Amino acid sequence: MTEREVEPVDILVVDDRPEDLLALGETLNVPHYRLALVDSPREALKHLLERDFAVILLDVRMPEIDGFELARLIRERDRTSVTPIIFLTGADANPGQIYKGYAAGAVDYLQKPVDRDVLRAKVGIFAELYRKDLRIAQQARALLEAGRRERELKLAELRVLAERRYANLAEAIPELVVTLDAAGSLEYCNRRWQEYTGLSADESRGEGWVVAIHPDDKKRAIRAWEQSLASGEVLEVECRLKRGFDGAMRWHTCRALPERDEDGSVTGWLGTYSDSEDLKQAIRARDEFLSIASHELRTPLTALKLRLESLAHTSAPDERAQRKLDGAIRQTERLERLIDHLLDASRITAGHLVLERDTVCLDEVVREVLERAREQPGTGGQAFELALDSDVTGLWDRLRIEQVVDNLVSNALKYGAGKPIRVSARSRGEVAELLVEDRGIGIEPVDLSRIFDQFERGASSRGRSGIGMGLYITRQIVHAHGGDIDVVSRPGEGSEFRVVLPKRPRPVTPAR
Ligand code: ADP
Repeated sequence: MTEREVEPVDILVVDDRPEDLLALGETLNVPHYRLALVDSPREALKHLLERDFAVILLDVRMPEIDGFELARLIRERDRTSVTPIIFLTGADANPGQIYKGYAAGAVDYLQKPVDRDVLRAKVGIFAELYRKDLRIAQQARALLEAGRRERELKLAELRVLAERRYANLAEAIPELVVTLDAAGSLEYCNRRWQEYTGLSADESRGEGWVVAIHPDDKKRAIRAWEQSLASGEVLEVECRLKRGFDGAMRWHTCRALPERDEDGSVTGWLGTYSDSEDLKQAIRARDEFLSIASHELRTPLTALKLRLESLAHTSAPDERAQRKLDGAIRQTERLERLIDHLLDASRITAGHLVLERDTVCLDEVVREVLERAREQPGTGGQAFELALDSDVTGLWDRLRIEQVVDNLVSNALKYGAGKPIRVSARSRGEVAELLVEDRGIGIEPVDLSRIFDQFERGASSRGRSGIGMGLYITRQIVHAHGGDIDVVSRPGEGSEFRVVLPKRPRPVTPAR
């Protein structure tokens, strides 16, 4: 280290005799020493509070507190507990005083009058030691800092890598992908988004992406989006998106998932748009076909059934022919029922389920449906247990409620293994409850959640006629009334279907 680079160090000199203090100051007047010359222990303590010293020179004989006492105070403080102290003793100092000095924490002592060269040499050693300590501390700090910086660098590299993978993934999938900040402003869109909408990344940024949504869907989609932004819940909404190159409006399913930090606060959103136009068109075509086919089938079937019925009434056939006629009528009724289900399904999925509400008595409806069921050839022997409250009335669509009871009872007959069927209708405050229980084949747990969907049939239905639409229609009707339906069942033990219907229309029925 060159002279110019030598760091200045602080040295404290405490002596109550002005001429000694002056002499010490002169001896130590070297450019890289910063001297604090004080004449009392009180002053010395003040300086020690303000800064650190490389070495302290302490006169042992002072009036207020002597040097030994001051040394003890210095040693007691954490910050100065290891600062070297050199005692300055009078020429008359005896070995007892010197030991006392060491006991008080001195590292060395010098006798007055002090030899200037010896003083300089001793102070010089402590000053150098102090500089070394300082350097080591600095190096340790620098090492820590370097370690921290390296860790930060590694983390930043990992983050960039993760983001690149994320971006690659977003580019690789066929969906339109966007990311938005916590306030809903678009930050990124993948190439597929830009190709489809014809909007560049810059044009899409912020609120720019909104122009791609069909004007008729905008209000609804934005409202749903704002609700998700406010609640932090996943968004799922259907809307039409304009295709840039030909202006075609294609249906898309839009999903947006919130991304959260460790505290659970939303930090941004990941949005995808999947084209659902082809699927929608296929469903539309299927429903149209079902609607036309069932209408066309119904006309000749009604005529056939009428003919059979009149034949059964007008002629007087023998018993065998009568049985055959009954069988034929039964088959036409089954066909009629299947066609009705198909027709209903197409109407309901097209959103044409309109209720004609009137005052309806549920217990009466149950009695009528069961009456008809008993008259059905083939079900005559089936036992019904009834638990009907009287006057379970509500404002419902009579024909639709009949259909609900009829579907559940028909299923109980079909899957009830010939065992008694229990039907209950109860009034429970604002709602009515209908229960249809059988002790038949039951439903596998895996089937429970899907049997209410279109064309879904349980494993146990094998070998029994049906197309898997009855429960779907039933649930749509119940939902349209603002009610709900569920089922409890165990394979081999039977099933219990429960319908809850609000007696009056609820002012705001949430869309399901
Ligand atoms: P379908 O009876 O024409 O198959 P549904 O929609 O009425 O159609 O019923 C769907 C499925 O639910 C049936 O295929 C059957 O597996 C199951 N299921 C319905 N009701 C019962 C019941 N009471 N007991 C056992 N399984 C039933």
